[in-house]
Amino acid sequence: MKFDIKSVHGQGLPIFINGEWLDAGSGAQLPSLEPATGREWYRITDCTPAEVDQAVAAAQAALKAPEWCDITQTQRAGMIFDLAALIKEHASELALLETRDNGKILRETTAQISYLHDYYRYFAGMADKIEGSTIPVNKPQVLNFTRHEPLGVVAIITPFNSPLNILSVSLAPCLAVGNTIVAKPSEHTSASTIAFAELIKAAGFPDGVFNVVTGAGAGAGQSLISHSGVSKVAFTGGSDTGRRIAASVGDCLTQANLELGGKSPHIIFADADLDRAVNGAVAGVFASGGQTCVAGSRIFVEESIYEKTLEQLKTSALEVVVGHPEEPATQMGPLATRDQLGKVEEFVRSAKEEGARLICGGNRLEGSPYGDGFYFAPTLFANARNDMRFCQEEIFGPVAGVIPFSSEAEVIAQANDTRFGLSAGLWTRDLDRAMRCVDSIDSGTVWVNTFRSAAMMSPMGGFKDSGYGKHNGFASIRDFSRLKNVVVDYSGQKQDAFVVKLK
Ligand code: NAD
Repeated sequence: MKFDIKSVHGQGLPIFINGEWLDAGSGAQLPSLEPATGREWYRITDCTPAEVDQAVAAAQAALKAPEWCDITQTQRAGMIFDLAALIKEHASELALLETRDNGKILRETTAQISYLHDYYRYFAGMADKIEGSTIPVNKPQVLNFTRHEPLGVVAIITPFNSPLNILSVSLAPCLAVGNTIVAKPSEHTSASTIAFAELIKAAGFPDGVFNVVTGAGAGAGQSLISHSGVSKVAFTGGSDTGRRIAASVGDCLTQANLELGGKSPHIIFADADLDRAVNGAVAGVFASGGQTCVAGSRIFVEESIYEKTLEQLKTSALEVVVGHPEEPATQMGPLATRDQLGKVEEFVRSAKEEGARLICGGNRLEGSPYGDGFYFAPTLFANARNDMRFCQEEIFGPVAGVIPFSSEAEVIAQANDTRFGLSAGLWTRDLDRAMRCVDSIDSGTVWVNTFRSAAMMSPMGGFKDSGYGKHNGFASIRDFSRLKNVVVDYSGQKQDAFVVKLK
């Protein structure tokens, strides 16, 4: 690959518009740091409105280009299959780019990118099976049917934590439907998305179908989402940013999918298989250093097993291997940015001030082997209360509060007492209770006796302040297409056209 791990080092990265690599224009240069060392790795340009405009114009032209809009769905599927094969071929290079960029452990980025091969194949398979419906109406000799059409230009804005994975949950269905795309990755982690554009080109997608602009949210990001040529914004990021984006796109009547933050409850009942539950809870909050939208950062434990579970949680947390993300034994790497480190420290301070009891972690990891990397210890607080600030706000770091509860009704009320509604996990052997909890929990996903279990077929998306819209499965085809209703009257009858007859 042109943009592999060596070539990115020390470079100013280009943008990708209309099938061409363009050097940085007049926008400000933004440094991207390597989280494991804290050193600058490459630079990107904060694209100007003119560059964003150029990318949207290319995507609009591609929508109408015969080599994209006149090809069959099966031909489109073929390109997506080819892309999937290229992802498989280059998975290790892409994984290394992401690990270097955001500090996520190489074992996980490798697993995520290998999974993308199947993800694109799944949507390639769907591309020529997107059926509308035939709707019976109370009129003889009238054919009433629906069909899914491309929406137009989709702007995909991604966060720093899983750049290609999050890009793909929107990009794969967008390509299957026949949309064109302008992507803007996080200013902290743009390298893998730029490299990915090479694979799009190699897979034979026509110029302009996929474009990449780079830059800050307030600069390039804002220019992109407010562009009148964009039909839909697929945004993944924080809830506060999501709210600003919703206001902006609302003004232009642009559609949006908003995949936002979370504060997932992780509920352990006294009858749970405790070893599995503790394993799920520890990985649920410390995987990726807690920088996952579904992090189970509120661990509710039934009173009768509270002390015992606390001990087990602490033991497991202390066993988490924190280290360089490229080392095979590492379970938790550094946080992605220096700002994130400061934010986590601030939450730890506030938890202590509010009276939570620190049982492990709570500090940056410094000295050998951590150097100037952005490392933080896995952190647990006992005697936490759901109304404490660190149990209400998304931390996006390796910190959880362990909260005791005395009844099912009480824990459900507390689990739902949050502005977020992305996911929840619960551990019990009582099926009736599990299903009662599923009924009452206010979140887009509920995991029973498992956690962070995702699949390309499972619709994923939040309730409440965690946003709206769905990833995965046919739900995302609906989200990235527009439904047209067609009514054909073949009766040959002249109608009273002055009166609409609703039957
Ligand atoms: P962020 O909101 O700071 O930034 C996300 C993206 O939005 C970046 O590319 C940024 O440049 C861009 N952006 C910022 N302001 C913008 C604006 N005004 N207009 C257009 N674009 C703008 O989020 P982050 O810190 O990169 O990522 C962490 C957040 O992402 C967490 O809150 C996490 O929960 C969330 N997240 C959600 C999901 C999900 O599926 N629900 C998945 C992963 C991450």
